[in-house]
Amino acid sequence: MKKPPIIWTNLILFTSTALVAGIGIPWYAMTHGFDFSHLILTIIALSFCELSITAGYHRLWSHKSYETHPVVEFIYAIGGAFALQNSILHWASDHRTHHRFVDDHHKDPYSAKRGLWFSHIGWMLREYQTNPSQAYANARDLQKNKVVMWQHRHYLSLTMITNIGIPLGIGILHGDILGILLTVGVLRLVLSHHFTFLINSLAHYWGSQPYTDKNSSRDNGFLALLTFGEGYHNFHHIFEFDYRNGVRWWQFDPTKWLIASLCFFGAAKNLRRTTEAQIEKAKLAMRLKRIEQGIALRPNPQEMLAKMREEYNNLLEHFHAYYEAKTAYKIAQKKKDAKQRLELLMANYHMMRKNWVSQKKAWFEMTAAYV
Ligand SMILES: [Zn+2]
Ligand SMILES: [Zn+2]
Repeated sequence: MKKPPIIWTNLILFTSTALVAGIGIPWYAMTHGFDFSHLILTIIALSFCELSITAGYHRLWSHKSYETHPVVEFIYAIGGAFALQNSILHWASDHRTHHRFVDDHHKDPYSAKRGLWFSHIGWMLREYQTNPSQAYANARDLQKNKVVMWQHRHYLSLTMITNIGIPLGIGILHGDILGILLTVGVLRLVLSHHFTFLINSLAHYWGSQPYTDKNSSRDNGFLALLTFGEGYHNFHHIFEFDYRNGVRWWQFDPTKWLIASLCFFGAAKNLRRTTEAQIEKAKLAMRLKRIEQGIALRPNPQEMLAKMREEYNNLLEHFHAYYEAKTAYKIAQKKKDAKQRLELLMANYHMMRKNWVSQKKAWFEMTAAYV
């Protein structure tokens, strides 16, 4: 079958920037040398690009996981042009298609099922039919956003201004123009490109699947380090509207911290969260699936499977009782109910919690051999 035509602009852009970074940086390091300021300025510029993509393009515009002030939107729009990853409208439309048709060979624009190379960068090098329609039918809401449409109209000039203007300006202030053009200009761009691309490629190959195995997405703490928290991709694919990707407090997700900080200072609102119960339920269902797969491999699995499902249903009853008791108590607390009633609800909540924790522990011990 004939391959679709090459997109020369993209091919030249990705190749030339990678070559300049790969050859120019070591050459300059040996002939002139870099100092600490080059490193810090590159990290700052890289963070600006990456956070504009993760907090702006991705969690704000693609998934509407929170709302923010137009000034913040404007900053993201500039950072996104600096990151050179297409306009917000185009990026978000592609990304929504990715979520809707994840792993579909024909409909997911960067389906991981088509290989690591394709999902990483190959999908941008040729005019594949999976590229979304230019009408952006799945992003009508974004077409009503002034910042989004302004950036879309002026995208090309904004990429020029930011990618030439910012490194050149910093270079003049710093004194080492060529060194800064290489680091803040080119190295920053190459790193920011490939760190983002890793989420479409490696985060669909390498890591754990604690929440779902209905698609290829993975949770990967190492990728989260490179991508400002986006590495928790398995969680993200099942709960895509959550402003967090690393949902646990200890998981490295600077994008989540940025959004929470914006909220704290009044610049963001309506942060969307998955409930603890929904998260827990997804994890339990995933564990049950693994247990069933483990049991199925053993001789005469029927009896064991039936027993396991019974235990699981029993566990779910405790699970629901606990979350119901917790919700009832929290609501009463919010409504400032009478002290006596609050004490009663709290006692019930603590008892249900104790039951749930011990049941869960027992179930984990009982099933440990099968997962
Ligand atoms: Zn994905
Ligand atoms: Zn997403």
